[in-house]
Amino acid sequence: MNASLPPLPPWRRAVLKVGSNLIAPEGRRLSTRHLLGIARFITDAKAEGRELVLVSSGAVAAGRALLGNPDASALPAKQALAALGQPRMVEVWARLLDLPCAQVLLAFDDLQNRRRFVNAKNTLRELLRLGVLPVVNENDSVAIDELRLGDNDNLAAHVAVLVEADLLVLLSDVDGLFDADPRSTPGANRIERVAVIDDAVFALAGGAGSAVGTGGMRTKLEAAAKATARGIPTLIANGREAAALEALARGRCPGTLFEATASPASAKAHWMRHALACRGRLQVDAGALRALRERGASLLPAGVRAVDGAFHAGDAVEVFAEGAAQPFAKGIVQYDAGELRRVLGRSSAELPALLGYQGPDTVIHRDDLVLL
Ligand code: GLU
Repeated sequence: MNASLPPLPPWRRAVLKVGSNLIAPEGRRLSTRHLLGIARFITDAKAEGRELVLVSSGAVAAGRALLGNPDASALPAKQALAALGQPRMVEVWARLLDLPCAQVLLAFDDLQNRRRFVNAKNTLRELLRLGVLPVVNENDSVAIDELRLGDNDNLAAHVAVLVEADLLVLLSDVDGLFDADPRSTPGANRIERVAVIDDAVFALAGGAGSAVGTGGMRTKLEAAAKATARGIPTLIANGREAAALEALARGRCPGTLFEATASPASAKAHWMRHALACRGRLQVDAGALRALRERGASLLPAGVRAVDGAFHAGDAVEVFAEGAAQPFAKGIVQYDAGELRRVLGRSSAELPALLGYQGPDTVIHRDDLVLL
């Protein structure tokens, strides 16, 4: 198998995501059945001087097993089970690996807030410097419903960006992305390489793949899109196949490789595009649309037509052209929503009279704006 497989891009630091279907294969309790090969891969890679961050699911499954599979489909019940099962999940890894393992729990808020994002980055960097294996999971027991990442595929992509990994590996129980659903189409072929993740690629994803994990192929593609946009090649491979893990260890691609885009977005633009939640919407006129899109200008009060939402200065908002259904930009506003309603459509010279003080010249500064 190995010789015929395409080469893996060279890597020194990788994020390895292990899905629920590997750590809790029957959907009930944690099992080491599929983890031994993965643990060996991690150990060997570390011995070669590589750095790894593990993103592991399984907290909810472990908690559920500890209580004898209670019926827990409501969110608070799942959050409680995650709190119960999380230490057990880390313990399973610590037992399999002859390496110090650290627990890192991240919530979407931690990625959204720039200071916490930078703090998490520093902690992870320090753990890697110390030779420790960070075992990351979503902080399920505190995450608020609408601010949950919800699936560890997307979490792994955020972590890959956070630690500036040169490879993201999503291990699951599928061999990669296929040109048709391999469960229902016998002749389906695995796609070896994907250069651009466009709508046609997403159309191949179908629905969720397993009853245990929250992710299916779709969340894997979302994760690959996030990581590749930051210059991180992403591999989807089958963690149940010993041959796939061996191939990986020999620098081969045993699944589907998503190539990194040639010109990755800057770290800040990427963070704004993917991690920042918006608290409002602005509608701008045709002149402002052109200025933002084509001239790289800042957004001025004069170009704003309408304000929607109750945001504060420092929050992120989406920017729409008049009549458009989709935003064309996202940015951090310098005005509270109420103040902005008072000055919209007005020139900078009118601001002091309208506000009673010299307000900011720009509604969104160019440096705080990202085109979508
Ligand atoms: N964070 C969840 C857990 O540890 C899993 C989410 C997922 O499988 O994508 O149970």
